[in-house]
Amino acid sequence: MSEFVYDALPMRVVFGPGSLARVVDEVDRQSLRRVHVLSTPPQRDLADRVADLLGERCVGVFDRARMHVPAGTADAAGNMAAELRADGWVAVGGGSTIGLGKVLALRTGLPFVAVPTTYAGSEMTPIWGLTEAGRKQTGRDRAVLPRSVVYDPDLTLTLPVSASATSGLNAIAHAVEALYAPDTSPVIAAMAERGVRDLAAALPMIAEHPGDGAARADCLRGAWLCGACLGATTMGLHHKLCHVLGGMLDLPHADTHAIVLPHVAAYNLPAAPAADAALRRALGADDAAAALADLGARLGVPAGLRDLGVDRADLRRVADEVWANPYANPRPVTRPELDGLLHAAWEGRA
Ligand code: NAD
Repeated sequence: MSEFVYDALPMRVVFGPGSLARVVDEVDRQSLRRVHVLSTPPQRDLADRVADLLGERCVGVFDRARMHVPAGTADAAGNMAAELRADGWVAVGGGSTIGLGKVLALRTGLPFVAVPTTYAGSEMTPIWGLTEAGRKQTGRDRAVLPRSVVYDPDLTLTLPVSASATSGLNAIAHAVEALYAPDTSPVIAAMAERGVRDLAAALPMIAEHPGDGAARADCLRGAWLCGACLGATTMGLHHKLCHVLGGMLDLPHADTHAIVLPHVAAYNLPAAPAADAALRRALGADDAAAALADLGARLGVPAGLRDLGVDRADLRRVADEVWANPYANPRPVTRPELDGLLHAAWEGRA
């Protein structure tokens, strides 16, 4: 890493147990007077809590955020915000809700504050996604960055162990690819290593004791660091594969990442010695890919894509699309190797 460019993203982060209450200060910092609160249906109670905290600064709640931001959902939220003459948003939830906040910010130029409640890390990236007629379109734009992110680990105490595990492994995947990205840098490498270490140590503690507040804080801090890595670098084979698998076969985003990651790591790390060394340090293991597979197994992640209902016959279509689109990768990918990797991930074998 003798040459690099590091382009810092302007993100304000407020971190700490109980920091949800500070969302009011963050909204005031942005001079927002008419805030529209966003959530998924199951997180409506939390959205109402935020609305109560905001008091007269809140003009309404939209509680229909959905995975991968369907265009109809974004239209409905945008129309409601316009009717309410909202001047910004607070998005409280996981990547699905924060993704909705991003699309609304992109469309209107209005600011939003993110309150993440999973470990997926989307709040730290300028990457937006919108799904229309079954196709997910994505892009990078700084206009979608939250103006401020309030990380309250207490809000993740209710995140089920399975969702904690898969969103945590999703975050680790961001760090793994950032470590060998063409635009990695010493700052990113340091954040990635620390993020992986925190998550890999704390996720198993959460699996045993979901109410462990210290482990929750370690995971959320790790998620922040890993998300920031994704936001600052170019994605490789792993994210390309997961994007195609998710879009084409409508698979759960975080589970797909958790299953595919050890396979891509085993493929790429021999071609990325610095990334490999950082991951071995972070995971405390001689074989980083095997350690990632073990971590997934300990956390009860499904072993293979077939456990998510993927038909073996679909693998060829997935490989065709991955093959047709270029992406940055430390190891040049051949078609037979791509087919082999996908098949191993489908079977769930090492
Ligand atoms: P999610 O936001 O889809 O949430 C999953 C479910 O868990 C939802 O029903 C949600 O309401 C619930 N939930 C969330 N937090 C909870 C909590 N603390 N307690 C109880 N229930 C809770 O899941 P996710 O994995 O955070 O996000 C996935 C989405 O994020 C995908 O669409 C993915 O593409 C996107 N994503 C984007 C980026 C990016 O950089 N743009 C990065 C990562 C993920």
